[in-house]
Amino acid sequence: METVVSGIRPTGNLHLGNYFGAVKNFIRMQQEQRCYFFIADYHSLTTHPTPADLHGSVKQVLAEYLAAGLDPEKSTLYIQSDLPEVAELYLLLNMNAYIGELERTTSFKDKIRAQPDNVNAGLLTYPVLMAADIIIHKAAKVPVGKDQEQNLEMARHFARRFNHMYKHEFFPEPAPFNFGQELIKIPGLDGSGKMGKSEGNGIFLYEDAGSIRKKVMRAVTDSGPTAMDQVVSEPIQNLFTIMEQVSAPDTLQHFKDKYASCEIRYGDLKKQLSEDIVNFTAPIRERIIEIKSDEAYLSKVARMGAEKARESARVTLREVREIIGFRPF
Ligand code: AMP
Repeated sequence: METVVSGIRPTGNLHLGNYFGAVKNFIRMQQEQRCYFFIADYHSLTTHPTPADLHGSVKQVLAEYLAAGLDPEKSTLYIQSDLPEVAELYLLLNMNAYIGELERTTSFKDKIRAQPDNVNAGLLTYPVLMAADIIIHKAAKVPVGKDQEQNLEMARHFARRFNHMYKHEFFPEPAPFNFGQELIKIPGLDGSGKMGKSEGNGIFLYEDAGSIRKKVMRAVTDSGPTAMDQVVSEPIQNLFTIMEQVSAPDTLQHFKDKYASCEIRYGDLKKQLSEDIVNFTAPIRERIIEIKSDEAYLSKVARMGAEKARESARVTLREVREIIGFRPF
C-alpha cells in the first residue's frame, strides 16, 4: 500500500476541472491506498489574503468533497491549517529553496500577471508549501491535474535536495499519478486555457441546471468546419474534451463524425453537452445541500481527519528535526 496526498484550495466551489483532474482519481485511490486529502486553506491566502468567510468556504468545499464521493472512513480528509506541522516543515524547506528557481515557475509567472498588485512572498513560495503538504506524509503518489505538473516536479526536487543536503534517504520522491492515463486538463468554455478558480470560468458541481445551460450555450465556438476531415479548432476540441468526460462514447463520436463531414450544428452540440453536464452534476448537487446542513457530521469529519493527519505529520517532523540537528535540552 502506498501513501497518496493531494489538496484543493477553498477559493471557490469545486468545478469540473477539479472533479475530473483530481477528485475522480481520489475516489478511486481511496479504495486501494493510504490517502490524505486536504483543503488547502493556507494556500488560498496567496490569492485571497483577506477572505470574507474563510471558514464558510472551507465548510462548503468539505461538503463538496464528501458529496462527490470521498469517504472519511477510507481516506484521511483534513483541513491544511489544522496541521501546524505543515507550517513548520514549510519554514524548514524554505531555507533550502532558492529565489531563482521559484521565480522561474510557470504558476508564479501566471499569478504575478493575474495579480500584479499583490506579488506576495507566499505566492513565490507556493511550491514550497505544496512540497511540505506532500512530503509531510512521505507520499509516493500525488493525483493532480496537468496544471500542477511543474509544482509537483518542484516537490520532487525539494525532497531530493533535503535527502542530499542532510545525507539521509528520508523523503521519497512523489510521483504524479492518474491510473496510467495521460494527466488530464479540463479546458474552460472561453476558447482557450484551463478551467480554473483563478480563471473565473468554472462550471461547478454545486451549480443549478439553468446556470449550467446558460454557460454552455455561451461557450466560444468557431465559424464551422469548411473542409472534410479538417483539424478540429481549439474551442471545439475543448467542448469535445468535456464531452469525453460527461457524455456517452457514442454521443461524442456522433458529434465528431458530424464535424468531420461538415454537418455539425454547434447549437445541438451545446444542448447535448449541457444536458449531459446537468445529469452528471445534479445528484452531486443534491448531496452537497444535504451534507452542508449537517453541521455535526461536518465537525466530526474535520476532527477525525485532523487527528489522523497529525499522527502522521508529527512522526515526520520529529525525524526531520532530528536529521537537521535540533535536539531537546
Ligand atoms: P485548485 O482548484 O487549483 O486548487 O486545484 C485543485 C486540484 O484540481 C489540483 O489537483 C489540480 O490539478 C486540479 N485541477 C484544477 N483545475 C483543473 C483543470 N482545469 N483540469 C484538470 N485538473 C484541474
